[in-house]
Amino acid sequence: MAARRDVAIRFVIGGAMFSMLAFFAAMAHLTAPHGAGGPHAMTQPHGAAAPGGEAADHPPLLIPVAGVGRGALVDSWGASRHGGLRRHQGTDIMAPEGTAVLAAAAGTVEKLFFSNGGGGITLYVRSPDRRWSYYYAHLKGYAPGIAEGVQVKAGQVIAFVGDTGNAAKGSFHLHFGLSRMAPGEGWWQGEAVNAYPLLAGTGGGG
Ligand SMILES: [Zn+2]
Repeated sequence: MAARRDVAIRFVIGGAMFSMLAFFAAMAHLTAPHGAGGPHAMTQPHGAAAPGGEAADHPPLLIPVAGVGRGALVDSWGASRHGGLRRHQGTDIMAPEGTAVLAAAAGTVEKLFFSNGGGGITLYVRSPDRRWSYYYAHLKGYAPGIAEGVQVKAGQVIAFVGDTGNAAKGSFHLHFGLSRMAPGEGWWQGEAVNAYPLLAGTGGGG
């Protein structure tokens, strides 16, 4: 009798352990770097309004691709991706392969990250006040001297346009993302907001 109860207790404990493992596995998935899911990895169902949205408290941004004028920009925030299963959290700027990618704003290079199934060769820059993260993806490569911890000025050449990661081959473009960062958040966190009004000069405060 005692032995049977012991077996039953072990079974219950085993079940609880399994539940905890499943829980932590789910948490690990939820908190995975967005580079792992890719710049086009989205959580909003088709038809829902794009999340985030306003970034009116951020100053206007420089267009981060050399030779592209404000009038050439297209607002691709919230555009359907992957057959409508995901929505786009960034601004795609088309340009020939190897075109210089410029820092849209000043900051410190926080992370150089590679995600074959996502953004490919990517670069994360954190603003000096650490409230914003600037994300550059599908890069061909980094500019000389770019490394984690290096400070960049607005307009500085930081990388080159490519089609790495989940960009269609030959679809050379920069995926630029802007995220609002809470205190203590890491480069893989933050709330994506639409940078287009800041890039196009139609939004943004001082
Ligand atoms: Zn994109």
